[in-house]
Amino acid sequence: MSRILFFLLLVLLVWIWFFKRPSMRRDKPAPPREPEPERMVTCAHCRLRLPEGEAIAAEDGLFFCCPEHRDEHAAHG
Ligand SMILES: [Zn+2]
Repeated sequence: MSRILFFLLLVLLVWIWFFKRPSMRRDKPAPPREPEPERMVTCAHCRLRLPEGEAIAAEDGLFFCCPEHRDEHAAHG
């Protein structure tokens, strides 16, 4: 009869082990974040940092926060 007790104990242990585990069993998808961290660039004129998508790229590889700064930078060399 001790085999039944052993079996019950085993079931109990597995049960406890199962519920004590962190919720790893649920394949919860990661919370939606920004798809890709956008590269930050610095305005070559006023040193403002802004995402590359919002920056204005000049021909010489520089980035500017606004067309005014691009023009001003070009005017001053
Ligand atoms: Zn600027």
